[in-house]
Amino acid sequence: MTYLSLVIPVYNEEENLPILFDEISKAMKPLKESWEAIFVDDGSRDKSLEVLRGLAKKDQHVRVIVFRRNFGQTAAISAGIDHAKGNVVILLDADLQNDPADIPMLLSKLNEGYDVVSGWRKDRKDDITRTLPSVAANGLISWVTGVHLHDYGCTLKAYRREVLDEFHLYGETHRFIPVFAHSVGARIAELPVHHHPRLHGTAKYGLERTVKVLLDLFTVKFLLSYGNKPIRLFGGTGIVLMLASFVTLAYLFARKIIASTSVTASPLLPLAIMFLILGFQSILMGLIAELLVRTYHESQRKPTYTVREIIEGKKGRK
Ligand code: UDP
Ligand code: MG
Repeated sequence: MTYLSLVIPVYNEEENLPILFDEISKAMKPLKESWEAIFVDDGSRDKSLEVLRGLAKKDQHVRVIVFRRNFGQTAAISAGIDHAKGNVVILLDADLQNDPADIPMLLSKLNEGYDVVSGWRKDRKDDITRTLPSVAANGLISWVTGVHLHDYGCTLKAYRREVLDEFHLYGETHRFIPVFAHSVGARIAELPVHHHPRLHGTAKYGLERTVKVLLDLFTVKFLLSYGNKPIRLFGGTGIVLMLASFVTLAYLFARKIIASTSVTASPLLPLAIMFLILGFQSILMGLIAELLVRTYHESQRKPTYTVREIIEGKKGRK
């Protein structure tokens, strides 16, 4: 039986919350699944918490997790997932930009056999300073990670719980959840969803987020591709640098023998020496990184694989 947990991060959304919960209730009414709405109050400074207390008094579907201070959207999402009772988790924003009426559609797509259904704000109602960097960021993330989605930034997405349990969120990485899910073998689908302009409250992020996303992308790519084998990146770089150094040195000495050109007078000599030192250093750094990875695995003893299903043969006639 499916049990739906809606996880909603909340930071100063007092005016939006009553309308949002109304819309959620309407959207959930026709569904036969049991459900809960987990609001995570991320240290709001307005009346959000009072509003949430009021909602919880009136309706048993409401659960509220109250942070001691503002920890950020990723932490709020993470807390919601940790406390979710459901086997399907649906994330959505509290600002009414996502439409709860889309939830049944996400759910039926999930039931076609997917582990993640990713909402795509095809007709996005934000101004161009938000949408343009977002198009570039989505293209870049798709290209770098090989997970091709149009809209990583859209919070409205549905996940099977067991997939979310395979990894931890930290930093500001909630937009990479589909990438982490892909890395543990999730089947991912994408669906266009409705999007509305923000009518109440203010957007919590500005343009600087694009730079942060870009930097996070470096980390995510590195961890996913080389997190378990850093020597391949550091060592690979080191070998290329050392080869470049050897080729330069060979060229310098060949020139010396053939044309008696001075080796020491050439600017190529310090360059070759620099390549040699950097290459050697890079390989050593790779070895240190391997030690870190080993320490991590020895202390955590976490499996390095994920299992979708185990099928046991039934006892019976041969
Ligand atoms: N949010 C949060 N903690 C924060 C910032 C934002 O829980 O520190 C919540 C916010 O209340 C909203 C969602 O995260 O429900 C998305 O925030 P916002 O609408 O400002 O982001 P955008 O739609 O611009 O991506
Ligand atoms: Mg928003």
